[in-house]
Amino acid sequence: MSGSVIRKEVREQNGRKVEYMFINGVKVHETDPEKQPQPPVVKPKSYDSEEAKPPAGAVVLFDGTKETFENWEAADGGPTKWNLVNGALESVKGGGYIQSKNEFGSCRLYIEFATPVVAKGKGQGRGNSGVFLMGQYEIQVLDSYNNITYPDGQCGALYGRAKPLVNASRGPGEWQSYDIIFHRPQFDQEGKVTRKAKFFVIHNGHVIHDHLELSGGTGWRGPHSISEYKVHGDTGPIKMQDHGNPVRFRNIWVVPIQG
Ligand code: MG
Repeated sequence: MSGSVIRKEVREQNGRKVEYMFINGVKVHETDPEKQPQPPVVKPKSYDSEEAKPPAGAVVLFDGTKETFENWEAADGGPTKWNLVNGALESVKGGGYIQSKNEFGSCRLYIEFATPVVAKGKGQGRGNSGVFLMGQYEIQVLDSYNNITYPDGQCGALYGRAKPLVNASRGPGEWQSYDIIFHRPQFDQEGKVTRKAKFFVIHNGHVIHDHLELSGGTGWRGPHSISEYKVHGDTGPIKMQDHGNPVRFRNIWVVPIQG
C-alpha cells in the first residue's frame, strides 16, 4: 500500500483540545469493528528451527549467552536493567527500554518473543512490549491471543499506523517469531522525508505486512494521534520496550541490507 491519505482534526473534549488523526479514512486506534475490522485469526505455522538459524553474514545480537547479553544496553547508554533468564532477555518493570549497541539501517531482523505465561490484564495491558527498528519504528508485541484491543495496536501492528493482515498469535508463554525486512526512510537536507520506511513482516510463518509503506512515525501522541516522521541518521539501534510486563526475547539476529 502506498500514498496513504492522512487527515487531522482537533476536537474539543471536556475543555481540552484533542487531536484526531485518520489514515485512509480510519481513525487511529479505532475500536469499532464496523470501521476497523479485527484481522482474521489464523493458525500459527509450526516452529521451523532451520528458518530460525542465522544465515551467513548475519550479526548475532543475542543467542542466549552471557556474552551476547553484553551486546545490549539501557536507552541512556548505561547497563541494562533487564535480566538474562534461562537463555532469554526478560523485560523488567521500570527497567526502561533495552537497545543493541550495534546500529543498523535497512536490514532483515529475526527475533523471537514470548508474552508472560500467566496472562494478566487486558487489551494493551497484557504482555505489552515492542520491537523498534532504528530505535523508533515499533512493531507491537502484545498478547493478542483471545485478547481484543484496537487493531492498529495489536500484536504485529506497526503501532498506530497499520494493523497486521492476520492475527497469527500463539498463546501466553509460547515462543513466537518475527521475521522483518525493513527499508529505512530517507530525508532531504531540510529534514523532510523523501522515501518512507517499508516493512515486510512474517509472524509465526504468516505474512502480516506486505511491503507496507509506513505513513509516519509510530510514537504515541494522544488517544487518537500518532507521531510524524522526524529526521534521524542512517542507522539506529534495535530497541525493545519495557511496558511493565515481563515479556521475553531470544534468538535475535540481523542481516544488514544496502540502501
Ligand atoms: Mg508496545
